[in-house]
Amino acid sequence: MQRISHWVNNKVVAGTSGRTGKVFNPATGEQQAEVDLASVAEVDAVIAKSKAAFPEWRATGMSRRAEIMFRTRELLDANRKELATYLTLEHGKVPSDALGEIARGIENIEFACGIPALMKGGYSEQASGGVDVYSIRQPLGVVAGITPFNFPAMVPMWMFANAIMCGNTFILKPSEKDPSASMFIADLLRQAGLPDGVFNVLHGDKEAVDRLLVHPDIQSVSFVGSTPIAKYVYETGTKNGKRVQALGGAKNHMLVLPDADLDMAADAAVSAAYGSAGERCMAVSVVLAVDSIADALIEKLASRVPNIKVGPGTDPSAEMGPLISREHRDKVASYINNAAGEGATVVINGTDKAKDAGFFLNPSLIDNVKPGMKCYDEEIFGPVLTVMRVKSYAEGLKTINDNEFGNGTAIFTRDGGVARQFQYDVQVGMVGINVPIPVPVSYYSFGGWKASLFGDQHMYGPEGINFFTRGKVVTSRWPDPRTSAVDLGFPTNR
Ligand code: NAD
Repeated sequence: MQRISHWVNNKVVAGTSGRTGKVFNPATGEQQAEVDLASVAEVDAVIAKSKAAFPEWRATGMSRRAEIMFRTRELLDANRKELATYLTLEHGKVPSDALGEIARGIENIEFACGIPALMKGGYSEQASGGVDVYSIRQPLGVVAGITPFNFPAMVPMWMFANAIMCGNTFILKPSEKDPSASMFIADLLRQAGLPDGVFNVLHGDKEAVDRLLVHPDIQSVSFVGSTPIAKYVYETGTKNGKRVQALGGAKNHMLVLPDADLDMAADAAVSAAYGSAGERCMAVSVVLAVDSIADALIEKLASRVPNIKVGPGTDPSAEMGPLISREHRDKVASYINNAAGEGATVVINGTDKAKDAGFFLNPSLIDNVKPGMKCYDEEIFGPVLTVMRVKSYAEGLKTINDNEFGNGTAIFTRDGGVARQFQYDVQVGMVGINVPIPVPVSYYSFGGWKASLFGDQHMYGPEGINFFTRGKVVTSRWPDPRTSAVDLGFPTNR
């Protein structure tokens, strides 16, 4: 059985805890590897190595740091296909989806290459007589990233690119369900010239996470995963004095108004709901259809869904792969199977496919969902598109704003005025106007509102730079006998 171990000081280091997790091939349902799960002592050892590497890395000139990131970008670019095979093997996503994830991740690497410009401070000459004031940003020290199974390459890149370019040393705790992508990326960073200890990968489960959350030498924690764990990570990390950004789950609504191009809206909803088997935090999971077009829209959705080709990522014609695990597949199936009993209309039931050995489901479509039904109230995270009928724009907006999550949303309309009002009123962090998955480009920042984010800094982009640095303001005066005198009053500028 293949064994996946930790990455410390630019080398693979075998785990010593005696605990391992199973890594499956979701397309066959078979275990294909085991991954070491770190003990507290192993976490402490990695933190010590990261701490030892920090002073020299922090002192490394920014242009040298940027040079390493440029090389990393070139290596990632040259190795896209190989990295994508790990995603297909362990996560199950089809190659086009895996390559898309890698492309969006590389954009974060490219952003971080601009670190000399991103770290610039301000300077005010002659704030007072002979006194200058300037601001600088400095790295935090050892920082940690804890990532989910659904983007094993992109989400780590959201975090580590800015973290290490700002001068921090970084410990990645990837999902134990698909750990190989992080090891592949670690080796590319080594090849690019990143010094020992600056980027480490520690595999593990709750035991490793809990240690990272309390260890005094961890300065910040970046987390992406489900809402209950995000809340726990935020509360525990901040209680222990750490800076924390914790991104949680989602329920993303797409509001379709009567004036929308319904074919365009149906294409967008189907792509955004079933891409990556719905295992995306920005997947559209609820279409809010205004009554007058609801029947027509559902017909268009229902005619598209059966054309989606479901299969293993090794089949070049497959458009949608399996789910991550047997348990998750069964949980998703239970939402579909329970929906009719709750009063919803199951238009297309994809659970037949659950008989396969791999963790597959076919896409499902559920109409007439309402708040109070499990398939609406909970994040399904699978290939299930639900439709709620609303009377008006106002009811659609209220439904979105009443929902506990606030990650992404979209409006489909031809009316610019209504779209602008929607963008103004909606209580959601990322908004699409005729765009179904509005993941911000790397020079903006990614993050939801409400139960989709705990903390106040979004991930990557400018807020990522803020998150991984601390501001310092220097007020300076050089010796000048003309301005020197004893004065016990509070310093003023005039
Ligand atoms: P998860 O919360 O189960 O796991 C995320 C990470 O937390 C993993 O590294 C895991 O090892 C660790 N973890 C799990 N249970 C833990 C516990 N009890 N204590 C401490 N650590 C624990 O999430 P997942 O199933 O890997 O990912 C899917 C979820 O992530 C979905 O809810 C999805 O919406 C969310 N997600 C959100 C975003 C976003 O940007 N908001 C992006 C991707 C995924």
